[in-house]
Amino acid sequence: VTKTSIDPMTLPLLGEPFVVEFANTWYRSGSEVTDFLASSEGTKAWFAHAVEARNYVLPVRLTKRVSSNLRELRDAVHSICTHIADDLPGFPEGVATLNRLVRLATGRHELHWERANSVTSAIVFRGPASDVLVATLASDAIAFLGGPDRLRIRRCATPVCELFFVQRHHLRNFCSEPCSQRTRQARYSRSHSL
Ligand SMILES: [Zn+2]
Repeated sequence: VTKTSIDPMTLPLLGEPFVVEFANTWYRSGSEVTDFLASSEGTKAWFAHAVEARNYVLPVRLTKRVSSNLRELRDAVHSICTHIADDLPGFPEGVATLNRLVRLATGRHELHWERANSVTSAIVFRGPASDVLVATLASDAIAFLGGPDRLRIRRCATPVCELFFVQRHHLRNFCSEPCSQRTRQARYSRSHSL
């Protein structure tokens, strides 16, 4: 089934760091799988609405190559998030993919000086726009997954929701308020039907 338009309300955007939001573009709810990067339309809608994606420039025309690179990158990030959140043994295969995709463009660390109190450093990639996009995304994913927030990646505790989130508070077990409420209601009706 090809959807002709994407309702922004259906996008799995939780306000999480970019890498986690990006991983969540593929999710399963029960037996239903949703992949927002499976079509150009879904990809464009996601990049247009994801606040964390505002710094990335999507090419106007999504070629097969860039679409498949984006999906491959997302699958790699998703597999690493799964590995962390589910505490899987061994080595996630996504690592090699990330390290390969970051080499699509050449990047250098550059210093950006606006004012003495507004100085940033960033890795700037050069090359064809679509390769720059994928390499930048891979580079940012590598920085995040190589940092301390990696250890806080969790999966929503609702059985039918597999979305990842970053646990900033140890009491948070759900991706969102609706998931938390749904679980509370299910518990309530269970305890009252005994
Ligand atoms: Zn959830």
